[in-house]
Amino acid sequence: MNITEDKKPTPSNFIRRIIDEDLRTGKNNKKVATRFPPEPNGYLHIGHAKSICLNFGIARDYNGTCNLRFDDTNPAKEEIEYIDSIIDSVHWLGFDWENRLYYASDYFEKLYQCAVQLIEADKAYVCDLTPDEIRSYRGTLTEPGKESPYRSRTNIENLDLFARMRAGEFTEGSRVLRAKIDMASPNINMRDPIIYRIRKVHHHRTGDKWCIYPMYDFAHCISDSLEAITHSICTLEFEDHRPLYDWLIDELKMPNHPQQIEFARLNLNYTIMSKRKLLELVQGKLVNGWDDPRLPTLVGLRRRGFPPAAIRDFCERIGITKQESVVEMGLLEECVRDELNKITPRAMAVLNPIRIVIENFPENTVEELDAPWHPNNPDMGSRKIPFARIIYIEKEDFMEIPPKGFFRLTPGQEVRLRYAYFIKCHNVIKDPINGEIIELRCTYDPETRGGNAPDGRKVKGTIHWLAAEQAIKAEVRLYDRLFTIANPDAQKDVDYKSFLNPDSLKALPDCFIEPSLAKVNPEDKYQFERLGYFCVDQDSTTAKLVFNRTVTLKDTWKKSN
Ligand code: ATP
Ligand code: MG
Repeated sequence: MNITEDKKPTPSNFIRRIIDEDLRTGKNNKKVATRFPPEPNGYLHIGHAKSICLNFGIARDYNGTCNLRFDDTNPAKEEIEYIDSIIDSVHWLGFDWENRLYYASDYFEKLYQCAVQLIEADKAYVCDLTPDEIRSYRGTLTEPGKESPYRSRTNIENLDLFARMRAGEFTEGSRVLRAKIDMASPNINMRDPIIYRIRKVHHHRTGDKWCIYPMYDFAHCISDSLEAITHSICTLEFEDHRPLYDWLIDELKMPNHPQQIEFARLNLNYTIMSKRKLLELVQGKLVNGWDDPRLPTLVGLRRRGFPPAAIRDFCERIGITKQESVVEMGLLEECVRDELNKITPRAMAVLNPIRIVIENFPENTVEELDAPWHPNNPDMGSRKIPFARIIYIEKEDFMEIPPKGFFRLTPGQEVRLRYAYFIKCHNVIKDPINGEIIELRCTYDPETRGGNAPDGRKVKGTIHWLAAEQAIKAEVRLYDRLFTIANPDAQKDVDYKSFLNPDSLKALPDCFIEPSLAKVNPEDKYQFERLGYFCVDQDSTTAKLVFNRTVTLKDTWKKSN
């Protein structure tokens, strides 16, 4: 894994400072063990990347370990497809768990024994209240809860009922196992929380062996302890669950007591991060699958062309705090540009072509011009680009009647064709019926080969171009924000889906690219000069090339917001 390529040291944060102090005082035998615990009920997104970079980054920098653990305690919503894609995405991001891939379901038997141990210690009981009754007995933030009438069951009776729950004797929802803590606790999580429930569903790993499943809060802390995790890092919504985490570890006298530490989750504007909503967009076919390049999923960002190093850089730049905030999409794109600027070869493409005839260039002749792959990395070498009598330029690079300050092609004004010659336009050919421009007639100055005039005269504009006959057809897909407003999630009475941007995907089937790109493969990345950074799409074949625009060259969003 190439996680060492991030050369800068990772900035410190409050979690790293806790670990520094623990190492100084010799806590945990000076070991650092973290884990990334996804629930396999969806695809990973950029928010998960923050947690992955944090957990695996700490393990890397402190010579510790980070486990990948699937929190597969809710079989109704979980699928193998998600497990496979999560494994793939964490590897793609550049991290590795070596032989430490775990599943909470591996611990089902141990978890059951822990529950029995709690019952024996008079710290758990089987409760027959209905789900509605449990809710109303729980009380509110201002009122204490009420004790369940089943709270005083004897241990013998509890052990018997719990064993029979496991044996499948009772229907779903008829009984649960609850921790016996304190119905008057100011923390609602401590009011006899449910730790086991009956679920007669097939589990993707344990099959039909179990019909009772542990709750997340019960399974998570025990799993952490069994794996000797030292720092159990999670997002802020678990802060109020920490007393329960600690209570369970203490009551069970677990050999390891991991420290739960909470940080603020990542929120990004113009997108959504809720797994439920992402699933809704995918299932409702409002996007083209989990890897739709408009989604903030890691498979989507990958397909769009975001390099993993840029995502790691982003996660470092946003930092780790306890303050909730919303990060600008522009910052993520800035990280992507910085990385792509370093690694991508430059090439030329014309998205919206207009034909030019260079009248003084001989027919049936092709000249080859040299063009470097990268302006300041000679190691990338160069390629030959053909120049001929008929070329394409971008339609918007010509204006018959230009406004002031238009330095591109216009009748009588000389411009430079990148890596080639100066040209001048003499004649504009229009469709006699609709008046649309169909062709420009130009001449070139053969003395300006390579883009400089020996007499020292200057031109103000340089434009990109392609030799028409040699250019290769390609489809180019342009992307815009998935939502039209910055915070689609936070609108009170309006469904977030009504803010979907109808122009978020624009497919241009008739674009052209330079012939040196004939043999590109999916995921290859280029900068198309003046147009942005592009990535070859999964759909691309040699017969039909498809490119995604990853990002434009500049942040075109700053001004418009
Ligand atoms: P849900 O609660 O809907 O299952 P989740 O986002 O909590 O969704 P998990 O699979 O449980 O999904 O997440 C795995 C880990 O990633 C957790 O430790 C969680 O805290 C962390 N995580 C999830 N979303 C974000 C986010 N937006 N920013 C930072 N960390 C996140
Ligand atoms: Mg979760």
